[in-house]
Amino acid sequence: MAISWPLVVSLLLSISSLATSASNSDSVHEAFVQCLLDNSHPSHPISEAIFTPQSPSYATVLQSYIRNLRFNETYTPKPFLILTALHQSHIQAAIICAKKGNIQMKIRSGGHDYDGLSYVATVPFFVLDMFNLRSIDIDMETETVWVQSGAILGELYYRISALSKTHGFPAGVCPTVGVGGHLTGGGYGNMMRKYGLTVDNIVDAYFIDVNGRIHDRKSMGEDLFWAIRGGGAASFGVVLAYKIKLVHVPEIVTVFRVEKTLEDNATDIVDQWQHVASKLPKELFVRLVIDVVNSSTRTGGSTVRVSFISLFLGDSKTLVSIMNENLPLLGLSQSDCIETSWIRSVLFWTNIAIDSPTDVLLNRTPSLSYLKRKSDYVKQPIPKTALEGIWEK
Ligand SMILES: Cc1cc2nc3c(=O)[nH]c(=O)nc-3n(C[C@H](O)[C@H](O)[C@H](O)COP(=O)(O)OP(=O)(O)OC[C@H]3O[C@@H](n4cnc5c(N)ncnc54)[C@H](O)[C@@H]3O)c2cc1C
Repeated sequence: MAISWPLVVSLLLSISSLATSASNSDSVHEAFVQCLLDNSHPSHPISEAIFTPQSPSYATVLQSYIRNLRFNETYTPKPFLILTALHQSHIQAAIICAKKGNIQMKIRSGGHDYDGLSYVATVPFFVLDMFNLRSIDIDMETETVWVQSGAILGELYYRISALSKTHGFPAGVCPTVGVGGHLTGGGYGNMMRKYGLTVDNIVDAYFIDVNGRIHDRKSMGEDLFWAIRGGGAASFGVVLAYKIKLVHVPEIVTVFRVEKTLEDNATDIVDQWQHVASKLPKELFVRLVIDVVNSSTRTGGSTVRVSFISLFLGDSKTLVSIMNENLPLLGLSQSDCIETSWIRSVLFWTNIAIDSPTDVLLNRTPSLSYLKRKSDYVKQPIPKTALEGIWEK
């Protein structure tokens, strides 16, 4: 076989330039590690928080908070280093060294970002992992809590319920979501009709800026405080902790889950729900989830199922009367309702058996799936013909 010398030379040049860029990046990474060690506080050594691909537990640490299997593939870009901060000085060192070396830093709290933004990048990067910083300090006198970013919502709910049966916090319904990302991005939950978004219930924060300085609400100023409650704090720095205001919940709340298929008149019920959902009393939240299930009676063998899942901050008798007045087509009866405590309503909403021990909420490992999610807002009810079009799809 004839070999073209220009091809050989160009291949050799490519290989040697690859080797040069690999050794350049090695030296950048070494300089970064050295910078971290140099900026380490003597009483809080940083070395035990550093994981590189050479560390035996690197893969375990990386995967511990990957919550979307789409980003756990061999071809998914990996960080050259993970820093599992054990102290605020480690975050400060990370910021200072990232800035000095012009290196991309990804901040990860609970790892539930839909697009893996907290642990994937297209340029060389490291992950600042917050999961060790998860303290929760509750002050029942002021009804406030300082919660660190590495806590998960389940831990927060559980700790509140351990101190009070009549307090709760309006945040998301998935207990393994991280406080850090959730509170920087908004926070939708089943008490939002009554108490607003999660970010509406934040009263202060500890925030580390691009120069590694720690601020509270007063020193960061109202503009930045506004931005880190919904604007995605990673654009501005690292949130160490949020101070949140607890809300009042009754000792007994009521939940239900009622499922209907197309054969049960689902289209008309969804239509009616759309017209009343925003006008129901603020204590009542009724969520609609639509999926496809097997059907023995329909051609094609499948049908659309609509599930109405609810939290009512009150008793079942009042709930049934509200529902039958506003959404009679659903035909809610007392036997569909479960009266329970707020903390057990969290279990119900997560599809965990409602009588399970509530410390199941401390479990940090969710069942994993491949997922892609997007949100949109409907300002007017979707017409019935359009619903039928959606069912066809
Ligand atoms: C299964 C599942 C259920 C969900 N349920 C709900 C729900 O009920 N309601 C709702 O509103 N949302 C829900 N979400 C969305 C979730 O609230 C957001 O994805 C949230 O950003 C996740 O936070 P995290 O800390 O777990 O994620 P991460 O992936 O760790 O972080 C998300 C983003 O925030 C940044 N960030 C994280 N920590 C910090 C920090 N300390 N300082 C600065 N920036 C930081 C990250 O860099 C990243 O950009 C759900 C998501 C999933 C996957």
